[in-house]
Amino acid sequence: MSKHIAIAGAGIGGMITALLLKKQGFNVSIYEKEKQAGGRLSFVEREGYRIDKGPTIVLLPEMLKSILDEAGVPVDAWEMLGLETLYSINFKDGKKYRKFKDKEKQLKELSQEFPGEEEGFKQYMEEMKANFEIGQSSFLEKSFTRKRDFWTGKNMTSLIRLKAYQSTKKISGFYFKDERLREAYSLQTLYIGGHPQTAPAMYSLIPYSEHEHGIHYIKGGYASLVKVLTDTLEQKGIPLYVDSKVEDIKKINGRVESIQVRGRTIDVDGLVWNGDFPTAAHLLNDKRNYEPSSGCVLFYFGIDGVYEESDVHQFFMGGDFERHMKEVFEEKKVPTDPSFYAFNPALIDFTLAPEGKSTLYVLVPVPSGSHIDWSQEQGFLDKMLKNIEARAFPGLSEKMEWMEVRTPNDAEQDGLFQGGSFGIAPSLFQSGVFRPQAKPTALENVYATGASVHPGGGIPIVMQSAKLAANQIILDFAQHSSTKDVNLNDRLNESISTL
Ligand SMILES: Cc1cc2nc3c(=O)[nH]c(=O)nc-3n(C[C@H](O)[C@H](O)[C@H](O)COP(=O)(O)OP(=O)(O)OC[C@H]3O[C@@H](n4cnc5c(N)ncnc54)[C@H](O)[C@@H]3O)c2cc1C
Repeated sequence: MSKHIAIAGAGIGGMITALLLKKQGFNVSIYEKEKQAGGRLSFVEREGYRIDKGPTIVLLPEMLKSILDEAGVPVDAWEMLGLETLYSINFKDGKKYRKFKDKEKQLKELSQEFPGEEEGFKQYMEEMKANFEIGQSSFLEKSFTRKRDFWTGKNMTSLIRLKAYQSTKKISGFYFKDERLREAYSLQTLYIGGHPQTAPAMYSLIPYSEHEHGIHYIKGGYASLVKVLTDTLEQKGIPLYVDSKVEDIKKINGRVESIQVRGRTIDVDGLVWNGDFPTAAHLLNDKRNYEPSSGCVLFYFGIDGVYEESDVHQFFMGGDFERHMKEVFEEKKVPTDPSFYAFNPALIDFTLAPEGKSTLYVLVPVPSGSHIDWSQEQGFLDKMLKNIEARAFPGLSEKMEWMEVRTPNDAEQDGLFQGGSFGIAPSLFQSGVFRPQAKPTALENVYATGASVHPGGGIPIVMQSAKLAANQIILDFAQHSSTKDVNLNDRLNESISTL
């Protein structure tokens, strides 16, 4: 009899863990509290229109592709395009800086917009290349369920090499002289809800990776992967129960024996938690205090027309980025002059709206937490709309056919810890060994995957956390399985070699 592993949550982490475990002969079932799978990876849809609700920037394409392959997702079921222009950053003083995949083009852009910074960029790319390899093999692909696996001499040398004790913002200052470039090479910590001035330097690898590995786009939108994954689950015979919240768990002698779903008791041999981890702390006897990542105010628009004079991804910096970050992360108040990000996928994908029309998405970093009642902040929303129209999309109010807004209050209601968009904050003491691990508590057969779990947030990284969780389960069950459990044991050697 193969072992029954229940997965609480059909986010990207839960679905990938399920596929990896099924491949090894486990009997897997997924319980999802919402009416559909995908979690943060989903669409805002109106008749004839769709736009990604959360993730839009596809990073680490090789990691994404290789884990989907490994999980058994057919290669021809999805398509990824690389962007030549990664994005533009529009400063309030009128300066515009564009980032490109092509290094020569980038150097040309630097010599035009920031003459004298070219050597710093070359040095940045060279040094980060070596750091990326160290970061990937020593931290991204390793689990630290046993703390001693982290505190090794080799890892300490790697951490010093990666200058983990420095902040991402500080690192950008080693290579770039102009404050605007320093912002351009550190604002990426916001992709995972972290403060550029406190997120440790290993996150400097994100802006490096954008240039080195590119920014991609999944045809049909990032969330079109959800249908691809649910089709694959069905094909592999993995049941996915929607509208099925895991409400409670029954523990005996340090193990989970069963879960409660819609009043039913379901016996399990193991449980993988894919909901935002801190929200399950009470069920899993975890007493740590976590700090949430930042939140977002999100605007989604249906537009009569297409903004052709734009890039797919654009950043619009406020007058004082440091002040904005202080308001988000320290003072935790509604920002006065925030920077924002705009996504215009119609430039590369005309399937998202009726002919001649398009959809847009704008994200404004704001504090997480329920202390701000966003329904009382209409003044801020109106001001932002004017700002978006003035700086990003002229004539927006006339072309707008519909608009939806989401705030951290909505995110919290959906089950994200304190309304933080990206899991717990990527601070030094919530990264690496300090972040919840694939086996996050003393409960012997409870595992976790997701943005609040090591190695952290972002679709490919969460997929990596799913891989770490699956590998840990395979390892643990190999140790506990009887020799009669031939089916499982036979497959173990193969999978452990991928650890
Ligand atoms: C606005 C926004 C923008 C983003 N932009 C990017 C980007 O550009 N690029 C990128 O790579 N990433 C981005 N991300 C991050 C990315 O979306 C997440 O890291 C990733 O989707 C998290 O996946 P997950 O598996 O951790 O969990 P989730 O997507 O949160 O899924 C968890 C699932 O568990 C379910 N659940 C919770 N509790 C229970 C329970 N008790 N029982 C049953 N089910 C339960 C939830 O309903 C949910 O479906 C963005 C996120 C947001 C919010």
